[in-house]
Amino acid sequence: MEIKYKNYYFIKSITATDYNSNCYIIWNRSSKHAVIIDPNDFFNIYHIVKQNGLSIDYIFVTHEHYDHIAGLCDVQQELGGKAIASEKCKQEMVRAQERLNKTYRLYMHFIKKEVKDSDIPKYKEGKIDISYFDRLNLEWEGLSFHIQETIGHSKGSSSILMDKTYIFSGDAVLKEKPIITNYLGGNREDYKNSTISYYQQLNKNLMVLPGHGEMFELKEIDFL
Ligand SMILES: [Zn+2]
Repeated sequence: MEIKYKNYYFIKSITATDYNSNCYIIWNRSSKHAVIIDPNDFFNIYHIVKQNGLSIDYIFVTHEHYDHIAGLCDVQQELGGKAIASEKCKQEMVRAQERLNKTYRLYMHFIKKEVKDSDIPKYKEGKIDISYFDRLNLEWEGLSFHIQETIGHSKGSSSILMDKTYIFSGDAVLKEKPIITNYLGGNREDYKNSTISYYQQLNKNLMVLPGHGEMFELKEIDFL
């Protein structure tokens, strides 16, 4: 998927294998400066960055689950960029491998794939350079980013509102699936108080770029 926004920026989503999570790369067409949201698959990201001659300024992490951070360490080492996440997300990231060991088999069972213990991916620990409590506002290449903690799916979940036009929701709001809040650090009560109350006061015409699946309009979600 490619979006042209204000004739300057492209957003591209990479759907990684296994978990089908989305990664987004946003760049300024003239300066070639870029940010990455949820670096899941280093090989794909590397290819796009090199092909377009991009230089990475920031890497945003929506939350600590493996399918959203799998490529973080390699991206940092090979391509650079300062990684940004909530303080809670940063603290929870150290348990990424532990959670992966618990859930990989189960997930593969759901998608009907046979796995051996040796098939479980090895998480390379990425490090967060900039962390925040509650929220962070950032101006970058003429775009505004309002990053807000929206917990409940996980302890370290955030949503990233870009230029009051697009919102990168991570797994906090997805179109088709009910949001999983009952494992991996999720909590239904937190979800209501943090995520639902935040999304309810947003403009319903916002375009949502989720952590899984296709883009949709916020008004299409009926639980908000
Ligand atoms: Zn998740």
